[in-house]
Parts: sequence; C-alpha cells; structure tokens
Amino acid sequence: MTDKVVIITGGSRGIGRATALAAAARGYRVVVGYASNKKAADEVVAQIAASNGKAIAVKCDVAEEGDILDLFKAADKFGTLGALVNNGGIVGTSGVRVDEMSAERIRRVMAVNVTGSILCAREAVKRMSTKHGGQGGVIVNLSSVAARLGAPNTYVDYAASKGAIDSFTVGLGHEVAAEGIRVAGIRPGLIDTEIHAAGGEPDRAHRLAHMVPMKRVGTADEIANAIVWLMSDEASYVTSTILDVSGGR
Ligand code: NAP
Repeated sequence: MTDKVVIITGGSRGIGRATALAAAARGYRVVVGYASNKKAADEVVAQIAASNGKAIAVKCDVAEEGDILDLFKAADKFGTLGALVNNGGIVGTSGVRVDEMSAERIRRVMAVNVTGSILCAREAVKRMSTKHGGQGGVIVNLSSVAARLGAPNTYVDYAASKGAIDSFTVGLGHEVAAEGIRVAGIRPGLIDTEIHAAGGEPDRAHRLAHMVPMKRVGTADEIANAIVWLMSDEASYVTSTILDVSGGR
C-alpha cells in the first residue's frame, strides 16, 4: 500500500477509469484527469470516495501545455507524486489511408498522444527525480499493439504515435533510471472501451476478436491490473521496457 499520488490522464473512462479504481484500491490518492467529460470524471471520484479512497478530478487536455501545468499543480496540493499514467489518447476516424489524411488530423493525434505524454513526463520527472530532490516514482505510458502492427488502412498515424511512445519509454527510462524513476509501457491489444466508437467503428474490437490468439477482446480491468503491477514495488527491477497485454496479438 502507498499513500502517494498518482496522476492518470484520461482517467474518466475506459482503461484510465479502471486504472483509477485499481490504484485507489491500492491506497493511491488519485488525480483523475479528463479532457471534457467532467460528469464521468466526477463519477470515478465519487466511486473511489464511496470505498474510502481519495481522489480529485482535474480538467486537462494534454494537447494544452497550460492544462498540464495546472494538472500537476493540483496534484502537488494533493500529496507527493508517486506515479504518472500517460493514458489519455485518441484515434482519428478509422479506415482512412495515409494518402487521404489531413494535416490537422495528424497534428492532433501527435499533439495528444505524443507531445502530451512527453510534457506530462517532463513535469513528473521534475517532481520525482532524486536529482531534483524528489523521492523517485513510476511512469507508465500507454502504447498499443498498433505500434508493432502499423494499423494499415485503419489509422497509421495513431500507430506511428504509439511507436513514438515506445521509443520515448526506452529513452526516458534510461535517462532517469539512476534517479529513482522507472518508466514502462503497456501495449494493449483489442480492448472493449469507447475509443473504437470515437474512431467511428463501435464494434471494431469485437469484429476483430477472431484474430486474437485468445479469440476474445480484453477488458479495461485486464490492462489496469498490468498498469498497477508496473506501478508497484513488485516490478522494482522493471524499467525501459514495454509489456504486451494483448491476448497474444
Ligand atoms: P477511451 O475509452 O476513448 O477513453 C479515453 C480517455 O482519454 C478519456 O478519459 C478521455 O477523456 C481522455 N482523453 C481524450 N482526449 C484527451 C486529451 N486531449 N487530453 C487528455 N485526455 C484525453 O480510451 P481507452 O480505450 O481507455 O484508451 C486509453 C489509452 O489506451 C489510450 O492511450 C489508447 O490509445 C490506449 N489503447 C487503447 C486500446 C483499446 O483497444 N481500447 C488499445 C491500445 C491502446 P474524456 O472522458 O474527458 O473525453
């Protein structure tokens, strides 16, 4: 058990929500970031409070540096930062080839998935690194199996953004390994969340389930369990690596 603070970007729904609940159950004080869905974030906070946990909801579009600074300021008031989960992420419309993609779409995917994660990690390292007087900590980055598969004819821009997250995880992990900070990535496979609806294809995960060696989609809880394990001392020698949680996909 820990009473440190964890910041979870995109903690209002899906994998982020499941991670917020799992982290609270392990004693973390949870900062639930959300982009626009305040009601969903407030519900996560209420659910944690109902189990005697501690949580706050903070609006943070990770494409906005000012929002990120506000998120970390709110977390500073809440306690000592022990973990960051770079979870907030988006896909563009599914089924768009690269030769059809707008610059605006590509910029937005990169701004949220890549720049946002790097800026959040920057703020976390400033607080956690023993070099800066911190007590160490853990950063978990949400990648995707798309980083390995490339997502052709689906959303190559998204896959490329997650490829960047993999490189970032390895590089940052090495940079801060001797400063008390572990950095790890998770590559979820096809997980049953609302992200597929956001891409215009609500039942995408179920449609492709037959391609998963386990022949089923994964749940947000199955990803959250891996994330909180990486955050725990049980993973004390794990850094600069990326874990596939994908039913074999
Ligand atoms: P989801 O159900 O669509 O939830 C997305 C979450 O991210 C929401 O909390 C949303 O906040 C937040 N968000 C959206 N745009 C944001 C922004 N600009 N700044 C900050 N937060 C933002 O997604 P999910 O499936 O749980 O995905 C979570 C992570 O796992 C993502 O990084 C995704 O790429 C990755 N992943 C998912 C799958 C999958 O199959 N589901 C597979 C591989 C990887 P609001 O509620 O306020 O909108």
